[in-house]
Amino acid sequence: SENHRTRVDTRSKAAFEAAKRVIPGGVNSPVRAFKSVGLTPLVIDRAAGSRITDIDGQSYIDYVLSWGPLIAGHAHPEVVEAIKRTAEKGTSFGAPTELETMMAELVCERVPSVDVVRMVNSGTEATMSALRLARGYTKRSKILKFEGSYHGHADSLLIKAGSGVATLGLPDSPGVPESVASHTLTVPYNDLESAKTVFERYGDDIAAVIVEPIAGNMGVVPPLPGFLTGLRELTTKYGSLLIFDEVMTGFRVHLNCAQGLYGITPDLTCLGKVIGGGLPVGAYGGKREIMEQMAPVGPIYQAGTLSGNPLAMAAGYTTLKLMTAESYRLLERLSARLQAGLERNAAEAGIPMTINRVGSMVCPFFTDKHVINYDVAKTANTERFRAVFRRLLDNGVNIAPSPFEGWFVSTAHGEDDIDATIEAHRSALAKV
Ligand code: PMP
Repeated sequence: SENHRTRVDTRSKAAFEAAKRVIPGGVNSPVRAFKSVGLTPLVIDRAAGSRITDIDGQSYIDYVLSWGPLIAGHAHPEVVEAIKRTAEKGTSFGAPTELETMMAELVCERVPSVDVVRMVNSGTEATMSALRLARGYTKRSKILKFEGSYHGHADSLLIKAGSGVATLGLPDSPGVPESVASHTLTVPYNDLESAKTVFERYGDDIAAVIVEPIAGNMGVVPPLPGFLTGLRELTTKYGSLLIFDEVMTGFRVHLNCAQGLYGITPDLTCLGKVIGGGLPVGAYGGKREIMEQMAPVGPIYQAGTLSGNPLAMAAGYTTLKLMTAESYRLLERLSARLQAGLERNAAEAGIPMTINRVGSMVCPFFTDKHVINYDVAKTANTERFRAVFRRLLDNGVNIAPSPFEGWFVSTAHGEDDIDATIEAHRSALAKV
């Protein structure tokens, strides 16, 4: 193929060796190390729009987008300008600013379940805080989560987790005390019957169900019809809270998040990624009556030196303002085009492949099975994934180095990017 080249990684290799001497595994987050694909990671120099460039000077069409946040593309001029303007006035005050209120007003306006919202610095902090709130509010200890879902790395949530934990095959992490783990109940995603059974047994002790309304950390797995509604009914019946972890789906799949897309209102919502526009932000919010159990109004504690940080608020606010209903229609068109092209390639090559997609979360699985949960996701062909991943890199396309992650499309991707990607994928499939 014309766009085929062999990746040069001389500088990336040297830089990664240097990193490994001073950073565990050379990375500040495990999947970045490319361990599961057996390659040297791209060490990044810069990125703009749909393209990311490594220190060896090669540029790639990027579907990682910092693992989801950059929905308007890398270094969007308006976002960069907002950060610069804000930085000139000071980078952190640890005191209220008007910008925080503007951000909160926008989130409350757009997210149906959110009357009141608290900003934190990561998705992990958002889910960890929401769980504490749910436990404090209900005065119960247990939680229910789904196998292969990832909700950040808080102790209670690192049980049968997805994302990097799945990629590296570490289902339960050492360092989580048994006494903590015993409060976390798990059932397969999309399995309402099992959730009901767990509630019949433990219902009066369950503080909350935490669920990704579209699972994004076992690859992309949409909810089956009735699953989220069933969880809403079940939690209401037993007086437990329903927590939607929309760290990945929030403002990614719809202007009003997954809860707007499906018309289901949880008690609490966790946000991250897109709402930070590429800076470190998370948030949790929900009904006023529940949220006001948090200090300083109520007794449940959570705090943060840099929470509501002006640079993060400026980047997040500007990104959310860039995203209109029309932006989501554009993402839908681009992503549908990508899906159709990838499916055509697989059919032509005679390779079994199933694509799960909701808006701009696109996930090809190398299987012909209907992927409805983590057990099915695990049966997809990982050898083939690795081979295609390498070929895509050689052909100038950067996707997440794991079969348990989707591809993200941004509004900065053009039809030309999508078509070049389809061609790169066609040539990759022809060679595996
Ligand atoms: N929840 C979900 C659904 C996520 O996808 C992630 C991160 N991939 C997190 C929580 C954790 O967010 P963070 O990495 O910002 O701590």
